[in-house]
Amino acid sequence: MTPIAFVNRLPAEAETQWLASLRAAMPELSVLALRELDVQARAGVEVAIVANPYPADLALLPNLKWVHSTWAGVERLVAELGGDAPPIVRLVDPELARTMAEAVLAWTYYLQRDMPAYAASQKARRWEPRPYRRPDETVVGLLGLGALGAAAARRLSEAGFRVMGWSRSPKAIRGVDAGTDLRHVLSAADIVVCLTPLTPQTRGLLNEERVGWMKPGAALINFARGPIIETQALLAALDRRRLSHAVLDVFDEEPLPAESLLWTHPGVTVLPHISAVTDRRTASAIVADNIRRWLAQGVLPQSVDLVRGY
Ligand code: NAP
Repeated sequence: MTPIAFVNRLPAEAETQWLASLRAAMPELSVLALRELDVQARAGVEVAIVANPYPADLALLPNLKWVHSTWAGVERLVAELGGDAPPIVRLVDPELARTMAEAVLAWTYYLQRDMPAYAASQKARRWEPRPYRRPDETVVGLLGLGALGAAAARRLSEAGFRVMGWSRSPKAIRGVDAGTDLRHVLSAADIVVCLTPLTPQTRGLLNEERVGWMKPGAALINFARGPIIETQALLAALDRRRLSHAVLDVFDEEPLPAESLLWTHPGVTVLPHISAVTDRRTASAIVADNIRRWLAQGVLPQSVDLVRGY
């Protein structure tokens, strides 16, 4: 049986944990790290499981038919592998969607209940009750209604928020006012949540002009990718109090450099890319199922559209 290669750029401990989890999920198959494969074995590899691989490492597998990423976001992989890439299958995991929906709800509450303002009041020893805004008086606009955005939209709607959504193609999600007009969503939302992939079309999506479309006093949550928002435009809007607050989990450069103004800006909450972390156990089970189906029936799971970029 030809081995399945695990090609990654992970720290040694994380690689060991992933190998253990993948092997437990598909004990009938042989899952090996690239360094465990000699030249002859590499030539037999048809499927690679990848976690942020070096493109040069994948090039050592001359008969690769497709790769399965252990991550949901594959923008870096698509960019690094370029047009000659084999089909890329990304992780679509209900557990990841649940985790992201939970994070979106948690940080939406953080903003709806004015927690950044109360933290500032406490620091200044000021007793300052603020007016209460109910969920059904709060409009949350989701940019991106894919696997993660749609789950978040449903969760917010169940919690009583008024939810609007924006995506490339029209969507019908119960309780969600979904459409394809970005300005309509940005101008109505009290809280904008970004969950689109990073593509040539979404890079700089929230620039000065579009931040200007946002409702005065609105807040922003970015759980997608840093470059979707132009940092200078965001900082300028926060400085002018045009926007009230930004919760950022993703950045142009990660880890966020120590000298970044974002660390200390009173209008910014910095998170270290933790809004939805892959669950190794559920992800390994999904990867294993997809590989088994391909081996048994030749069915390739839906792969990333390299032209569209996601
Ligand atoms: P997905 O299923 O591919 O959904 C992407 C959504 O964005 C779709 O609704 C898509 O529209 C929309 N979209 C893409 N390009 C657009 C454009 N130019 N204009 C309007 N809408 C556009 O992706 P996902 O699984 O939900 O993941 C979304 C992103 O979350 C990932 O790409 C990744 O960057 C990020 N992520 C972050 C974390 C974290 O911990 N911070 C964890 C996992 C993932 P259509 O429906 O019309 O195609």
